[in-house]
Amino acid sequence: MPDLSGFTRPVQNDYGLQNKHNFKKKAGNAKWYYQLFFDESLENDLNALAKAYQNNIPFRIFGAHTNLFITENGYDGLFVDISLKNSKVIFDEAAKTFTVTSNTTVAEFVNFTMDKGYDFAALTGIPGMMGSGLVGNSGYTPSGKMFSDFVVEAIVFDFEENRFIKIVPDETFFSTRNSTIKQSNKDKTRYFVKELVLKSEFIGKEKVREKFDAQISMRRESLKISFKEGNAGSLWSNAHLQTLGIKSFPSMLKENPSINQDFNGATYSPNNRLFITSEATRDKDAARLFVHTLEKVKALYGVELHKEVIILDKDGEIDTETFIKNSLN
Ligand SMILES: Cc1cc2nc3c(=O)[nH]c(=O)nc-3n(C[C@H](O)[C@H](O)[C@H](O)COP(=O)(O)OP(=O)(O)OC[C@H]3O[C@@H](n4cnc5c(N)ncnc54)[C@H](O)[C@@H]3O)c2cc1C
Repeated sequence: MPDLSGFTRPVQNDYGLQNKHNFKKKAGNAKWYYQLFFDESLENDLNALAKAYQNNIPFRIFGAHTNLFITENGYDGLFVDISLKNSKVIFDEAAKTFTVTSNTTVAEFVNFTMDKGYDFAALTGIPGMMGSGLVGNSGYTPSGKMFSDFVVEAIVFDFEENRFIKIVPDETFFSTRNSTIKQSNKDKTRYFVKELVLKSEFIGKEKVREKFDAQISMRRESLKISFKEGNAGSLWSNAHLQTLGIKSFPSMLKENPSINQDFNGATYSPNNRLFITSEATRDKDAARLFVHTLEKVKALYGVELHKEVIILDKDGEIDTETFIKNSLN
């Protein structure tokens, strides 16, 4: 057992990850599990993670898991959750900026800023935490806006340097559903986002409310993400299709129902055309749906779909091809 001492609370062993999905009913275990809290223990725990980093103990940090697909192999490392407790948004009246802890939900942030009359309505309906939104440069594709339109700076813990650093994103920091942090953390988690500063235009509470209501009414059906009826949101990146000038994946499904098929519960929901699974679905069923989808879309539209969801396997994040290969063998 590697040295995982130094954390404020006990690290749990052999932890079942099944409930870490909003939509997938079967997942393996994490070798170790820990939850970070935004309180006086945070700095100590980040130092303990820095020690794990130096000792090459693998760990991954997650927010609300709304962009996560864990395989039946589980994760042979330390799965770190971020607690939603003690989230905070502060409005700086003079600078007209909002400072927010990374564990604040996007919904909480949008509501807070709407009350003050600032226009973050484009972020309406994005599930998950603000820190994840920065890492994945989240955005609602039809709104044309994403986190990169609003983020001024971020306070980030660097596990390699074992200290907090301030990042002011330049034009290379963000790309479509991507950021330098996401890339840097892909093979080994180097950065933890602690805090973000965001800015937007003042348009008044009523106008923000109108935009908010319009976006919610467009999104209502797809935002059913309880464990029972859950869906994976965008399994395939619509933002990628938009950059190619091609219609969204749900529109393709509507136009060509043959893209859909049901592999033992792995299918696109007839209600909202988003990926769902059932109690019986195995990874091999999901893999068969992925193969079917990729082939059909390639044949009908001539494009390669890019996945948006993170697939977590025993050695860390894997790509679609590896998941398919592992699951069908
Ligand atoms: C129904 C539904 C609708 C969705 N709609 C949208 C949408 O409109 N637009 C969109 O962009 N996405 C959408 N998504 C995908 C998902 O909600 C977003 O990617 C969201 O930003 C993920 O937030 P999370 O807290 O759940 O992150 P998680 O899934 O827990 O993690 C996502 C990534 O962020 C990293 N991360 C999280 N917190 C930190 C931190 N503090 N420091 C460093 N790394 C961190 C994790 O390591 C992981 O790589 C949708 C998903 C669902 C299920």
